[in-house]
Amino acid sequence: MERIALFPGSFDPFTRGHEDIVLRGLRLFDQVVIGIGNNATKKRYFALDVMKEMIEKTFASEKNVKVITYDDLTAHTARELGATFLLRGLRNTTDFEYENGISQVNRYLYEEIETVFLITSPALAPISSSIIRDLHRYGQQVDNFLPYSLSELNQINSQI
Ligand code: ADP
Repeated sequence: MERIALFPGSFDPFTRGHEDIVLRGLRLFDQVVIGIGNNATKKRYFALDVMKEMIEKTFASEKNVKVITYDDLTAHTARELGATFLLRGLRNTTDFEYENGISQVNRYLYEEIETVFLITSPALAPISSSIIRDLHRYGQQVDNFLPYSLSELNQINSQI
């Protein structure tokens, strides 16, 4: 049976830290599905469709990476995909506290699901989407933190 992992997140934006988790996940799973959660109550900084396109470009040469958006419980989305693993990254104890809770809930909702945590690569540990949003909001260059070009993203953003 194919080992499919769903890597769920807001990815607002998708960072080099996220990319690292996907690439390392590919060594463990046959397929990694990056799921961008579309939480209607949470306003995004980078548009959902644009981020999906940027992530697809990032992994254009990886045939075992798929990108989806979803508007449902993560556990239900995983079940629909036939994914029996959730992939998450851990940077610090704050991440752990949060992840501990949601992984318990996900197993309550879908007994066969196992959450697999990868400890962040040290050089990428300080990268967080919220810090990148703040830097970008105040005009700071953030390309070094992203696996795609933001100038391209800005062009696409201005077209919509
Ligand atoms: P969420 O809103 O669900 O926390 P994020 O997009 O912020 O979604 O993060 C998705 C996953 O990626 C989480 O498991 C988070 O801990 C992990 N992650 C975020 N930044 C990094 C990083 N720099 N290194 C490793 N994992 C990370």
